[in-house]
Amino acid sequence: MLEELLDLFSCEASAARLLREVRWAGGVRCPYCRSEAVIRWAWYRHAYQRYRCKACRRTFNDKTGTIFAYSRIPLKEWLFLAYLLGCLHLSILKASREVERSYGIAYRSARKVMHAIHKGEDEGGSGKLSGIIEMDETYITAGLKGRGNHGRILCLGRKPRRRGLKAKPGRGSWKDDRPPIMILVERKKREHYVPSTDAEGETIGRIASRHVERGSHIHTDGFPSYTVLQSLGFEHEWVNHSMGEYARGDVHVNNCENRASLLKPWLAVYRGISKDNLGIYLSLFRFQRTTSQIPSLQRLKLIVKA
Ligand SMILES: [Zn+2]
Repeated sequence: MLEELLDLFSCEASAARLLREVRWAGGVRCPYCRSEAVIRWAWYRHAYQRYRCKACRRTFNDKTGTIFAYSRIPLKEWLFLAYLLGCLHLSILKASREVERSYGIAYRSARKVMHAIHKGEDEGGSGKLSGIIEMDETYITAGLKGRGNHGRILCLGRKPRRRGLKAKPGRGSWKDDRPPIMILVERKKREHYVPSTDAEGETIGRIASRHVERGSHIHTDGFPSYTVLQSLGFEHEWVNHSMGEYARGDVHVNNCENRASLLKPWLAVYRGISKDNLGIYLSLFRFQRTTSQIPSLQRLKLIVKA
C-alpha cells in the first residue's frame, strides 16, 4: 500500500493509471457527447491514453474535462497536493512549500481540489437526515480574508484590518464576521455543516427544512430560535443549558458540541479563512471526518473521483 502510494507521487505513469482506474470505472465515455463508442487513439505525453469518439469524432485523453486538464503541474504533483490537503490536513501555504511551487500556483490548484471535494460532498451527502438529529450552532471568526476583497472592504466604509480578527463573545452573525455554523448530526450516522448568515428562527427553519426529513426528531439546546422547528413539522425536544441541564434521557446535543470542539482547532490550521470560502472548508472537514477510517490511497481515489 505504501509503495503504491509513493509510486503515485513519483511516477507520472502510475498517477495516470490511478486516474484511468477511477475515472473510467464505468467504461470510457466521450466527455463532449457522452457517447460510449470510443476507441483508443495513441498516447498523450507518453503517460495518458488518448481516445477518439466515433460519434462526434473528437479526440480526448484521460485528463480532458477534469480539474487536471491544461495544467502546467504534472498529475503526480496534483495527487501529492491532494494528499497533503485531504489526508494530512496541511494548510495551503505549507502544502505549497512541500510541492516546491509558488503559493499562487499551489493555491489555484488547492482551490480546485477543495472545490471538487465540496462538489462531491454536496452530491454524495445531499440526502436528508432522518431519525434523531441533533442541531446546534457554533460561531467562528471569518472575515474577508484574501487579496481580491480589497474593494469589498472599502465598500464597508472602513480600512482593511491590520491585525487578525479578534473573537468577540456572544452570538455573532455573517455581517459582523462571526458567522454561525449550523451543525446537524444524525445519531451515529451522517452529519452536515452549514454556514449560516445568522441564527434567527427563520434561517434555522430554512436550514432544517433543507437538510432534515420532515417528521424527524430534532434535539437542540434552549435557544429560542429553535422553537420554530415544531411549527415546521419536526418533533422538537430541547435541553435547557442555562438551567444546568445537559442531557435528559437521550435528549442532548453532545455530539454537536463534540463536533464544534473538533472543528475550531481544525480551522485554526488555516490561520483565518474568508467567510466566502466557509462552505468549501466545511466540506473538507466533513470529508476528512467521514473518511478518517479508510487508507490514504482509498481517500485519494475518492478525491480524484470527485
Ligand atoms: Zn463524442
